[in-house]
Amino acid sequence: MMEKIRMTTPLVEMDGDEMTRVLWKMIKDILILPYVDLKTEYYDLGLVHRNETDDAVTVESAEATRKYGVAVKCATITPNAARMTEYDLKEMWKSPNGTIRAILDGTVFRAPILAEGVTPYIPTWTKPITIARHAYGDVYKNTEMQIKKGSKAMLKVIDENGSEESEMIYDFSDSAGIIQGLHNKDKSIEGFARSCFNYALDTKQDLWFATKDTISKKYDHRFKDIFAEIYESEYKSRFEEAGIEYFYTLIDDAVARVIRSEGGFIWACKNYDGDVMSDMVATAYGSLAMMTSVLVSPDGIYEYEAAHGTVQRHYYKYLKGEKTSTNPVATIFAWTGALRKRGELDGISGLCSFADKLEKAVLKTISDGIMTGDLAAISKLTNKRTVDSETFLNEINTRLSNSL
Ligand code: NAP
Ligand code: MG
Repeated sequence: MMEKIRMTTPLVEMDGDEMTRVLWKMIKDILILPYVDLKTEYYDLGLVHRNETDDAVTVESAEATRKYGVAVKCATITPNAARMTEYDLKEMWKSPNGTIRAILDGTVFRAPILAEGVTPYIPTWTKPITIARHAYGDVYKNTEMQIKKGSKAMLKVIDENGSEESEMIYDFSDSAGIIQGLHNKDKSIEGFARSCFNYALDTKQDLWFATKDTISKKYDHRFKDIFAEIYESEYKSRFEEAGIEYFYTLIDDAVARVIRSEGGFIWACKNYDGDVMSDMVATAYGSLAMMTSVLVSPDGIYEYEAAHGTVQRHYYKYLKGEKTSTNPVATIFAWTGALRKRGELDGISGLCSFADKLEKAVLKTISDGIMTGDLAAISKLTNKRTVDSETFLNEINTRLSNSL
């Protein structure tokens, strides 16, 4: 038996709910614990424990992430009315991801995992496109009004000395209508920009950013200017050294270029663009279960997870004693992302190469035709075989142990 890889700093481990909680334990038992002397600081973010701790555990896990710098998170339930009864909750606790993101002030980067045999709907996309969504402000924190015919709508600002400035939005003398007030903050845009530039350097990929600054000459233009200023003063030389590019264009031009591209870059999007484009890109690459997600703070703290949820429908089957063919790939890649980052920060090359080999073993299993049902449904391989989650993990382990 080979010696297990030692770790020096603990990973922050955030456990979760339902089917992904089941997979979480299987992944650790089958693919990680036999090879890594795993050090984690464990936080149980399962809904039962969040409810017991009045959600304090979520805040504690985010604070631990601040302290140690790297976390790996399992999917968690965001409670709704049905969950209130199902779990007999004291309160409708907020989304853990929202709470963690607010504490780390980070940006979420979503990237698809490409496997031979599972081809994207856009055949030219041979490399992943990573979407970075600015998760603050704009239409998500807006103020809207319906306006009666005959009204005048004004935009009014009162500064700290009480002086007022106003501009006409529209004179509704000809018709009733609607208005909308949006805002964003320089501070938030700056954090977004730094997270994007850091992540581009970290993953050695070009960074694209696009807005509609020709039409929105103050609002969108401010985004463009902040990105440009931060790039020039803080990142330009590092980008040149790394041989990567920062590229700004108009959003419609970006959309056209993305479709024609081969992938392999990060696309930074304003809040709404990111909401819409991330669903389009995820679908085009195949399966939600092959989408990874990492939250990166402007000061370089990383939290890795799968982009999908707790796969509730499969969990209810599992509870009835059935074997499910739930895809663990994005959750495995959350672990490999976190282990690799921990290895980089602590100078443990063995941990980084273990992460590489585990990822390769996953992709080899799929290209050998062994896969979960969601992938089998879209794979063009003729020798494909649908297996349950545990068989899939064991097959990955066979390939992993052969490569170590
Ligand atoms: P979901 O868990 O992502 O699942 C939606 C459907 O997508 C599943 O029913 C399944 O389709 C398919 N799917 C997703 N992941 C899969 C995987 N790994 N393997 C195979 N199929 C997969 O979304 P949801 O059902 O809307 O949400 C369930 C719970 O997850 C909710 O309580 C929600 O709050 C939570 N959630 C958490 C996060 C997070 O923690 N980041 C994100 C999203 C949702 P089939 O049923 O057709 O097989
Ligand atoms: Mg969306």
